[in-house]
Amino acid sequence: PSDVDDVDDTLARRERVIAEVQEHYYAQPPRIERGWREYLVDTDARVYLDMVNNVASVGHAHPKIAEAAHRQLRLLNTNSRFNYAAITAFAERIAATLPDELDTVFFVNSGSEATDLAIRVAMAATGRRDIVAMREAYHGWTYASDAVSTSIADNPNALATRPDWVHTVDAANSYRGVHRGPDATRYATDAVRVIDDLGVAGTPPAGFICEPYFGNAGGVALPDGYLKQVYAAVRRHGGVTISDEVQVGYGRLGDWFWGFEQQGAVPDVVAVAKSVGGGQPIGAVITRREIADRYRSGGYFFSSTGGSPLSSVIGLAVLDIIEQDGLQENARVVGGHLKSRLVVLAEKHSIVGTVHGSGLYLGLEFVRDHATLEPATEETHAICDRLLELGVIMQPTGDYQNVLKIKPPLCVSRVSVDYFVDALDRVLTTGW
Ligand code: PMP
Repeated sequence: PSDVDDVDDTLARRERVIAEVQEHYYAQPPRIERGWREYLVDTDARVYLDMVNNVASVGHAHPKIAEAAHRQLRLLNTNSRFNYAAITAFAERIAATLPDELDTVFFVNSGSEATDLAIRVAMAATGRRDIVAMREAYHGWTYASDAVSTSIADNPNALATRPDWVHTVDAANSYRGVHRGPDATRYATDAVRVIDDLGVAGTPPAGFICEPYFGNAGGVALPDGYLKQVYAAVRRHGGVTISDEVQVGYGRLGDWFWGFEQQGAVPDVVAVAKSVGGGQPIGAVITRREIADRYRSGGYFFSSTGGSPLSSVIGLAVLDIIEQDGLQENARVVGGHLKSRLVVLAEKHSIVGTVHGSGLYLGLEFVRDHATLEPATEETHAICDRLLELGVIMQPTGDYQNVLKIKPPLCVSRVSVDYFVDALDRVLTTGW
C-alpha cells in the first residue's frame, strides 16, 4: 500500500483487517508518518507534540538507534542460542543499573512476556501457585500477566473472572480509595493481612506483584514504606517479590532509575520492557542467580528473538543515549518544572482534583466534585480530543479513565512542556 492512500480509507481498511479488540487512539486518529524527538508528523505535515509515548522513551527516530540497527542488520540477526558479544554486553549493562544481588537476566520481547515470566519464576522458585497482586493494575495480556491484571478500564469483569490462584489487595492510592491522605499507610497493613491469611490457610503466596509507583493509576506514589512492609511479609512466608517496572522504570521518574528505589525496597525479581528498546520490542526479567536457577527445574524458557543481536545493540544504544543525553536528569528537571506548572493549573481550574507523579511520569486527575471525587470521565476524553486539535497527543488512564497520563519521551524540552500546559490551560478555560 502506498503511504499517500486516503486517510479514511486506511482507517476503514485497518478496522476490516485487524482484530477489533486491538483499539487505536482517538475515533479519528491522525495518520502518523514520521517522528523526531517528542514530535510526530502526520501525512498532512501537521506536527503534534507527543506527551504520552513512553515506548519511544529516548525520542522518536533517534539517529543512534537507527545507526545501531542498520549496522547490526547488515551484519547479523539471529536467535539467541548463538554466541555473540552484544547479548552479554547488554545483560551486563542492565544488571549494572540494579543492586548487586539482581545479577541474572532473561531476555524477552515485551512487557507482558516479562511479567508473565516473572510470575512463573516466582512459582517455580517456591513450588507454589498462589500470587498476590494489587487491584486496578495492568500487567499484560498473556495468560499469567492477564490473570493478575484487574483494571476495569481494560476488562470490566476483571475481578470476577480471576483464576483461583490470584489474590488481590487494595490499590494503594492515597488520593482515592478506602484509605486517604495520612491514613494511606493502612494499605500496607491490609495487604500484610491478606498475605498472612494465605499463610494461615496453608497456601502461602509464591509471589507478590505490583508496580512500585502506580503507573496505571496515573503515576501515583505508593504510601511511604508500603513496599518495605509488604515485601517483608511476602518474604516471611517464603514468597518472591516482583516489581513491574515496565512503565515507571528506566529513568522516567527522574530522581530514581528504578521505581522500587523510591520506596527504599529491593524486589527479588524486576520485569521491564517498553523504554528498554526505545520502540524495538525488548523485555527483560532480572533476578538473583539462585532464583533463576530454580526456574531451570521448574519451567521451560527459551525466546527465539529475546536478546537477539538486533535487540541487544538497540538496548545498548538506548542505555548510551540515556547516559549521554542526560535523560534521567532531564526527566527530573523538565518533569519538575512541568509538575509545578500543573500544580498552578490545578489551583485555577476546579475540574483538576490533583496532580500525581514524579519526573516525566505525571498524572492530572479530573473530578466533578472535590468531596466525592466523582471521576470526570467524559470530560477527560473530550479534553484529550480538544488537545489533539491543538496539536498535543494525550490520553486518559486509570480505572475511571479520568487521569491524563503524562509520560512523554524523556528528551522532551521545557519549551514543549510549556506548550502543553498552555494548550491545556486554554482548553480548561475555553471549554471542551
Ligand atoms: N506492565 C505494565 C505496568 C504495563 O503498563 C504494560 C503495558 N501497558 C505491560 C506490563 C505490558 O507490556 P506490553 O504491552 O509490552 O506487553
